[in-house]
Amino acid sequence: METILPDSLRALRAALEQLPGIGPRSAERLALFLVQSEVEVARGLAEAMVAARERVRFCERCGALAELQTCVFCDDLRRDGALLCVVERAVDVLSVEKSGAFRGRYHVLGGRISPLNGVGPEDLRVEPLERRLVAGGIREVILALGSDVEGDATSHYLAQRLAGRGVRISRLAHGLPAGSGLEYADELTLSQALEGRRELV
Ligand SMILES: [Zn+2]
Repeated sequence: METILPDSLRALRAALEQLPGIGPRSAERLALFLVQSEVEVARGLAEAMVAARERVRFCERCGALAELQTCVFCDDLRRDGALLCVVERAVDVLSVEKSGAFRGRYHVLGGRISPLNGVGPEDLRVEPLERRLVAGGIREVILALGSDVEGDATSHYLAQRLAGRGVRISRLAHGLPAGSGLEYADELTLSQALEGRRELV
């Protein structure tokens, strides 16, 4: 099959194979579909990919995905600005949103503390988080990090560092799948974990 596929088709297959969750067989199936579809289908897909990649960036205030300087969650005045949900990655914001159980604002850390991988607090958006607390108006910080060892360690570090500012620090109730991040939690589990959050400080 290798030598009988045209070069450009093989290149497309190789490009698709770089995507997460796409193995060699899926990549080949998608590539074969695209070269046999209307050219507008392929062009539309290519244009949508480039446009999204060029336009989507991180909110300057909270770190969530945005197209403007700030995201829809920071800009929505109906949301409760006194509640701040801290997550590891921008995609975790989407998981919490889908649970429908949170109507506050967000703060994306950009990862978790991981000494083994050389990631310390200074590599994360911890200082911007402190600045938001200093700026005032925040009543509770909800730590919605993974329930594995590094997620736990990051939660405890943040709880200690943010303590003593008159802000309640809580974290999600247990119930998230062990050893995984928020993206594996279903919506009901996540909303129950939010409702049953417990106070750390
Ligand atoms: Zn934002």
